[in-house]
Parts: sequence; structure tokens; C-alpha cells
Amino acid sequence: MGCTAQDVIAALRAGAATVAEHRDELIGLDRAIGDADHGENMDRGFRAVVAKVDTAAPETPGAVLKLCATVLISTVGGASGPLYGTAFLRAAAAVGDETDLDGAAVAKAIKAGLDGVVARGKAVAEDKTMVDALIPAVEAAKNAAESGEGPAKVLAAAADAAHQGAQATEPLVARKGRASYLGERSAGHIDPGARSTALLLTAFAEAAGARS
Ligand code: ADP
Ligand code: MG
Repeated sequence: MGCTAQDVIAALRAGAATVAEHRDELIGLDRAIGDADHGENMDRGFRAVVAKVDTAAPETPGAVLKLCATVLISTVGGASGPLYGTAFLRAAAAVGDETDLDGAAVAKAIKAGLDGVVARGKAVAEDKTMVDALIPAVEAAKNAAESGEGPAKVLAAAADAAHQGAQATEPLVARKGRASYLGERSAGHIDPGARSTALLLTAFAEAAGARS
């Protein structure tokens, strides 16, 4: 079973619900090594995304992802807005006009998302950013797609790997973003953006799995 525009909308709704549920946790993580707004930024952005897809009713997965990107860019303050926005924009471009995504297309979209974040923010592995969740997610998604898995399992593999990647940011010293201002004092905390990436992927996987 593939992934249609309606499925992507359902995934974004699930993402919004997760972000709302973990708002305070993300604020807490960002309080430790940033400015305590990541949960608020993400919650505001995803609420706006859900409101927009309700009225705009985009017809392909790519159109939904593109709409999500533009809403995130215009509503999320902070570094994470343009970064997530670019990720969703690149994911949209990667799936083009396809109407029903298979596992390989979903894996390709996640890879395009990572490439977008890197193009925009110039972070590399172990800089303690969302890239540390996305790199293992891309690898796991690729492997799952190559084994012939569909969207739900590809997303589930990506989500599991992203959680491990996010967890592994804890001992790192930040080299990008606001947390890098803390230098060595940024060690000992999970990166909020890596955590939100993992949470979103889990929500997307659960939404996809709920109907497969
Ligand atoms: P701000 O840092 O402007 O307050 P947020 O708190 O919403 O924005 O987002 C912070 C998150 O953004 C970090 O936890 C990190 O994952 C991510 N981030 C910041 N800079 C970069 C970058 N250059 N590349 C990738 N991710 C980044
Ligand atoms: Mg912040």
C-alpha cells in the first residue's frame, strides 16, 4: 500500500499532535542549550500546517509537502523554521508529481530532506543538530526500501534510527546553531532539533502504519 496526498496529510496531523504533546519537553531541551523556544516554534508551525492543509486541500503528496514547507518557513521563528522548511521543500521536489508513493519514494524524500538541511545549515555529522537524527534515518530508510518495504516500514526504520541518533547527541559539543555558543557546556544534553526530528518521523510512521 502506497502513500497518497491524504496519507501525507494524516501524517502531518500526527506530527502536529506529537509536537503539541512534546512541546514542554522540547522547550526544556532547548532551555538547557538554547533559548527555550523550540517546542513553541514547532507547535506554532505545525498547528499552522494543519490549519492550512484543511483549507487548501493539495492533491498530490508533493503538493502537501510543499505547502507544509512554505507554512513552516513563514510561521516558525528561529533556526529550525527555514531548516525544516527546506527539508520539506526538497522532499516535495524529490517526489515530484507522483500520486502514490512507495517505500523507495519515501526513502528518497527523507534523503532529499537531509540534503536540504545540510545545504541550508552546513552542519555535518556530530555537530549536535537535527542532522544527527537525519543521517541515520536516511541510511535506515534506504536499507528498508531496498529490502522491498513499503512506506510505513521505511518510516518506522527511519524513526528508530533517528531516535538513536538523537540520543547520541547527548555527549556531543555543539558546533552549529545557538547551542554552539555554549561550547563545552553544551555537552550532556540531547539536541532539541534532533529530538523533534525523531518524534516527527515516529508520528509519520505510526500514521502510515495505522492504515497498512
Ligand atoms: P533557534 O536556535 O533559533 O532558537 P530552534 O530552537 O527552533 O531555533 O531550533 C534549534 C534547533 O535547530 C537545534 O536544536 C538544531 O537541531 C537545529 N539547528 C540549528 N542550527 C542548525 C544548523 N546549522 N544545521 C542543522 N540544524 C541546526
Ligand atoms: Mg531555540
